[in-house]
Amino acid sequence: MLHVEALSLDALAREHGTPLFVYSKQWMLDALAAYRRGFEGRDALVCYAMKANSSLGVLRVFAEAGCGFDIVSGGELARVLAAGADPAKVIFSGVGKTRDEMRQALAAGIACFNVESEAELDVLNAVALAQKQRARISIRINPNVDPKTHPYISTGLKGNKFGVAHDRALHAYRHAASLPGIEVVGIDCHIGSQITEASPYLDALERVLDLVETIEQAGIPLHHLDFGGGLGIDYNHDTPPAADVLWKQLLARLDARGFGDRQLIVEPGRSLIGNAGVCVTEVLYTKPGEDKNFCIIDAAMNDLPRPAMYQAFHQIVPLAERSAGTSTTYDVVGPICESGDWIGRDRALNVVEGDLLAVLSAGAYCMSMASNYNSRGRAAEVLVSGDRATLIRRRESVDDQLRAEHFD
Ligand SMILES: *Cc1c(COP(=O)(O)O)cnc(C)c1O
Repeated sequence: MLHVEALSLDALAREHGTPLFVYSKQWMLDALAAYRRGFEGRDALVCYAMKANSSLGVLRVFAEAGCGFDIVSGGELARVLAAGADPAKVIFSGVGKTRDEMRQALAAGIACFNVESEAELDVLNAVALAQKQRARISIRINPNVDPKTHPYISTGLKGNKFGVAHDRALHAYRHAASLPGIEVVGIDCHIGSQITEASPYLDALERVLDLVETIEQAGIPLHHLDFGGGLGIDYNHDTPPAADVLWKQLLARLDARGFGDRQLIVEPGRSLIGNAGVCVTEVLYTKPGEDKNFCIIDAAMNDLPRPAMYQAFHQIVPLAERSAGTSTTYDVVGPICESGDWIGRDRALNVVEGDLLAVLSAGAYCMSMASNYNSRGRAAEVLVSGDRATLIRRRESVDDQLRAEHFD
């Protein structure tokens, strides 16, 4: 029988229904501890990239652990403040910040805007001056390195919409330094997600440090270096470097190049929460077919969007092994009216109707991407700590869904 910490998933599913997301507080804190081991003795801040999972109960765990946060919208700012985060540890990324979002973030007193274009610099300058404030910024550099991951989650290549091109960086920094409403404090890069090798990080580090030298020679000091997030997790026998091992390696290069004394910021999302969550779902029907057998479950692409979006892989395991029967190869699919609504393909499972399955590594980019497609309510979420479970989000009701709409 599968457990999360001291609690059986079976008992949690019987109590709260399915589909149900279950997170382990300890597994989250263990993932954070790996980063902190890597940064021991350094001036470093881990800013949890909350788009990976922005549920208040999850944010609260990281806020209490002293994390900063990487936000990408005004909604995320409001959420993270509601969770009790320290605004002085919040950084704001994203290519399309609106004036309203800038005003809110300035009023809250966030640590830094990660600016992604020269046009954004001018708008932020104007917004800050109108509020009689100065906006602390770093510029997100596009280092043009290949993170060797899925194209939809590569962000540091020339053809991506993110960041300022390496060649334009000095120009952009000179412009930023000339603006009265802007205070340059750092440099930033983020090259992609689900990265499972150290080499793209090392390449990006060298490229960023080359720029730091150039920018500082131009008389613009950079107090912090932000290397983004993107570290992968184990979905399907993936072997990403451990956060502490990777950071020891990167810090050795930083030291060798004489930048070991700078404040370091990282923005991990997936690697802090991905493997700390599972989604429990019930088998509704099995449906034998000529070409394929289908195992139809009560979770769908609106709960678990990664397979439909990026052909991503989640392990799917029964909560309890059956002693009788044999395995059949199934496509595991949801009830949504789309052929793209699949959760796993060609999986050998020994299951019957009513059995419970766990979709593993479902902590990141699942609930935060969940939708109401097909007017399905969003799943409930439970946070487990030891032998205690807290319902951190109740199942969304039909009333919740209809509340914002009207006709006359
Ligand atoms: C998404 C994102 C992250 C986090 O990426 P992970 O792969 O979840 O670690 C960090 N920084 C920025 C700017 C992002 O957009």
